[in-house]
Amino acid sequence: MSALEDYLRDLIAQEGPLTLERFMGLALGHPTMGYYITRDPFGVAGDFITAPEISQMYGELIGLWAAETWVAMGAPPHLHLVELGPGRGTLMKDALRAASVAPAFANVIEAHLVETSPVLAKAQMETLAGAHVPVSWHSSIETIPPGPAIIIANEFFDALPVRHYVKDAGAWRERLVGLDAQGRFAFGLSREAEASIKVDAPQGAVIEIGAVGQRIMTTLATRLVEQGGAALIIDYGYAQTVLGETLQALRDHQFVDPLDCPGEADLTTHVDFAALARAARAAGAQVHGPVTQGALLTGLGIFERARALSRRADAAQSAGIEAALARLVSDQAGIEVDGGVVDGMGELFKALCVTAPGMAPPAGFWPPS
Ligand code: SAH
Repeated sequence: MSALEDYLRDLIAQEGPLTLERFMGLALGHPTMGYYITRDPFGVAGDFITAPEISQMYGELIGLWAAETWVAMGAPPHLHLVELGPGRGTLMKDALRAASVAPAFANVIEAHLVETSPVLAKAQMETLAGAHVPVSWHSSIETIPPGPAIIIANEFFDALPVRHYVKDAGAWRERLVGLDAQGRFAFGLSREAEASIKVDAPQGAVIEIGAVGQRIMTTLATRLVEQGGAALIIDYGYAQTVLGETLQALRDHQFVDPLDCPGEADLTTHVDFAALARAARAAGAQVHGPVTQGALLTGLGIFERARALSRRADAAQSAGIEAALARLVSDQAGIEVDGGVVDGMGELFKALCVTAPGMAPPAGFWPPS
């Protein structure tokens, strides 16, 4: 049994069942024992692979997107390029390399990485050791200095804890995590009903609410409205708010029970982009999209970039570029990579852009012609 499991059991014994939000927050982010705090979960040897780790093209296109968006902002003389949850720092490295083809932009950037995991912050420092712009680290967005900003969040919102409410005997009750008779973690429901949820649904229906993510979106949007800029949020999720739960746990590329081995498995949910968009609009910001990741990357020229890279590649490298391209933009199931099979991310993943009011739709968010 892990030390975090012991800690959570003691906590439940002392305080009673925990809300799912608190359980998930501790499983992922406990300051010394949380999943993200203790390890680098990426890559073939880790629990999952993200788009920037699949291909350099991903970060490069986002770097060029940032340069274009900076021009659309009126090319302010100083820009904070912020990334939330930067993982290994691969996206930022590829973005900064691509941005160096636009020196007017590259010369005004200061990069800020918002990361709570010391293990991953160290990996980011190594990845970005040769960066030609100033780079600093923050444990929250609150400490980023004022001024116009472009904010990138790739697979960040799916890693934030959620609340579940379950329809039970005509009322919505919050899902809690307690201990069963054998001392295992088990779901239960709060005694008090949540009167603020007015949704009609059958017995047993579940509503998933990403309150932590919505609060972060409110903070980002408020900043963009006051100080200018844009945020690009890319993640798996859905464009409309729907009933149902999407909590999942991944360990060694396999799905496991979300209550088993807290701290050892990645807990995530699909992102409710409609709820993020509502939070952004409520703060006075302008919302573009969501569009699918496939549409965004196609609009930003990933096919042209893949062709250019393939021209300089040997046969094996070209096949790798093709497989990465299919994985990033298509919704094809069963793409063969490195001896395994994976599904395309092109449709499941969505991109949302939030800007200060009055900005034209940024690159990749133009309506289809
Ligand atoms: N963007 C990266 C990593 C995604 S995984 C990629 O696409 O590869 C989620 C990242 O968010 C990790 O770096 C994790 O440590 C970080 N993270 C999780 N919760 C966080 C929080 N509350 N504040 C800042 N970073 C957080």
